Parts: sequence; structure tokens; C-alpha cells
Amino acid sequence: MIPAVMPTYNRTDTTFERGEGAWLIDAEGRRFLDFAAGIAVCSLGHCHPHLVATLQSQATRLWHTSNLFPIAEQQRLADRLVAATFADTAFFTNSGVEAWECGVKVARKYQSAIGHPERWRVITVGGAFHGRTLAAIAAGRSEKLVGGFGPIVDGFDQVAWGNLNELRAAVSDETAAICVEPILGEGGIRALDDAYMAGLRATADEFGLLLLFDEIQTGFGRTGRLFAHEWTDVRPDLMCVAKGMGGGFPTGALLASERAAIGMVPGTHGSTFGGNPLAMAVANAVLDVMLAPGFLAQVEAMGARFCDGLLALADRHPAAIEDVRGRGLMVGLKVRSPAAEIIAALRADGLLSVPAADNVIRLLPPLIVEAAEIDHALGIIDRVVAAKVPVDA
Ligand SMILES: *Cc1c(COP(=O)(O)O)cnc(C)c1O
Repeated sequence: MIPAVMPTYNRTDTTFERGEGAWLIDAEGRRFLDFAAGIAVCSLGHCHPHLVATLQSQATRLWHTSNLFPIAEQQRLADRLVAATFADTAFFTNSGVEAWECGVKVARKYQSAIGHPERWRVITVGGAFHGRTLAAIAAGRSEKLVGGFGPIVDGFDQVAWGNLNELRAAVSDETAAICVEPILGEGGIRALDDAYMAGLRATADEFGLLLLFDEIQTGFGRTGRLFAHEWTDVRPDLMCVAKGMGGGFPTGALLASERAAIGMVPGTHGSTFGGNPLAMAVANAVLDVMLAPGFLAQVEAMGARFCDGLLALADRHPAAIEDVRGRGLMVGLKVRSPAAEIIAALRADGLLSVPAADNVIRLLPPLIVEAAEIDHALGIIDRVVAAKVPVDA
């Protein structure tokens, strides 16, 4: 008999009852260091006091009005995001994929508005993940995403990850935009280098395309900058964000330059729930914490501590660890034995992590993680990895 919850997920058998900071606690009171962070969503850990206070106070005042009416918290968040980024305007969504798909629509509308309705295709890269709508699986393209779901939605051309020549060759008279994740998330924590990023901008400018960054996973402080592309001089025209933005409250956004959003006039796009007062109040509270002096520097420092520790472990256990990747607190550990087994062993020892492609273990601590917690995680990884060295090594 099919389970009452549709069985589309591979779940563990641990159920959590509550969370405190970087920790999750199960029904038996066992504590787990949460370096899964709800897949990079619980950016400020669990039950952050400022988020709890904001949510509770907003809950007693106003939850939802719809976008038929001005929403003060939405306006405030948009103003702050515009002030803090390349963007001039923001559209609010409830999830990552809606923000991404909004980016695709804005890019097509831009081309149409400037007299190029024939430009509607988007170039994406291999290993990319943009979500699970029919358009997003067409953009991601892997068999796992598209298999059995009928004809693949047209309008997406995929090229090899990190190969600028191939990308340039794929530009046609029908291309509207280029879309990349600055660091592949699901695809195995692989970062595009600065020269490639600059090449993307130059290619977009040369051919009149828009550049869309999917920062759904890399954004909101994850890498030690508010957004990962800020490590380079490159600025996109469009950026979709979500995951860490609401600290666990479902919300996302598409940020755009004024030029890119030229076609987005009243009636062109909408969302019933998007940007509602409850979500916006929480997202503003997340920003309060992230924009406070020293917060991002602390993320960077904790990321460096974690990365140094993992590199030392890789030196000690070369037969078990192949590579340490990532930036800030978006870390990938490529292992030589099956990643799923190591992830299970880490969990048994009290550390939660997330699988990614390419046999990579994703370690995504909440951004409020402390040095002692990083060191605690390193101790667990050391023990587990030492015990898991492949027998033939
Ligand atoms: C998670 C993710 C998405 C999809 O977000 P949802 O909220 O699950 O729709 C898209 N792109 C990237 C890079 C992601 O990490």
C-alpha cells in the first residue's frame, strides 16, 4: 500500500522533535550537530531568538493580505535588498524554483520588450540544478529529473560545466539568457572560477543576453559574502534566491536590474502567497542578523577554520578523502568510498550532512555555528573517515 505521504523522498529513520542553534534533538533526547541545516535553509540555526520573536509578534498582527494591497514588510525588504545588491527591484516567491522560473520569464520578457521576441532560449550548464517544475527539470536535464515526465520543455540548451568556449558556441539568434549557479550545490560543490565568471559577463554583453545567477543555495551569507558572486567583480542582471533567505520560513525572490525588468509591468507576473507579511517579516529579521557588523566576517572565519581542518584530515586520510571544496560554510567533501555510507556513519556519530552529485558530502552548517561546534564536527569526521578507509587502499 502506498504511504499516505507520497514516497518521493529517501528519508532517514530519525525524527527530530526540536532544534537549538546548530543542534537538532530527537525523541530520545539525542543531540545531532546539524550540518545539513535543512539543505542550507536554516541559515541562522534553529529557533534563533530574533526570528522567533519576529514571527510571534507578526503572527499576532497580520499574516496575509494578498498582493492586491501594499505590504509594508515586503516594501521594506525590497528596499533593503536593492540597497545591499546589484538589483533595482525584487519579485517575491514562496520557493526557489518559482524564483528561478520568474528569472527565465523576466529574461524572455526583456528580449521581447526590446524588440527580440525570437530570443527566448536559456543556456544552462551540466550538473546544474534549478528545481523541479517542468521548465526547471528541462534546464537541469539529467535523466533522474526528466525521466518519465514526457517531452522535455523546450527552450533550454545545456553545455558542459566550466567550458566557456562551448558556452559561447551555443549562443544562437534565439538565445535570451545564460543561467549558472556560481557554485554548484546539488551538482557537488564545484565553484566557477573568476575568469569563467568574467567570461560569462563578457559573453552576455557581446550577444545582448541577460546573465541569471541561481544563488538559491549560495546566497544569504552561505559563502561569507551576502551573495557568492560578490567574491568576484561580476554582477548579474538577474538573481534568484531562496533557501537561507527565510531561515526556515518558505520564501524566495527574483532580484533584477532596472534594465532587465523592463518588461515586467502590472499583470505580467504574480503569486498569491509570494511576499506575504509573515514571510517578509521573518526575511527582514534574517537580514537584520546577516547585515549586522561582523556577521559575514564570522562566517568567513568559521568557513576557513572548517576548511583548514578538513584539509588536515584529507592529508591524514588520503585513502579516504579525495577533495575538499567550496567557499565559506558551503563545503564539499569528496570521498573515495560511497558517500551515502559515510553520511550514514556520520549521522550515527551525531553529525548531519547532505549528499550531492559526484560522491560529495555536503557540509552546510548554520551560519551561526561556533568554533567549538566546527571542531566537534571535525572530530566526528576524523573518526568516521579513519574507520571507512577502503580496504583495498
Ligand atoms: C534548492 C535549489 C533550487 C530549488 O529550490 P526549491 O525551493 O526546492 O524550489 C534551485 N536551485 C538551486 C541552486 C537550489 O539549491
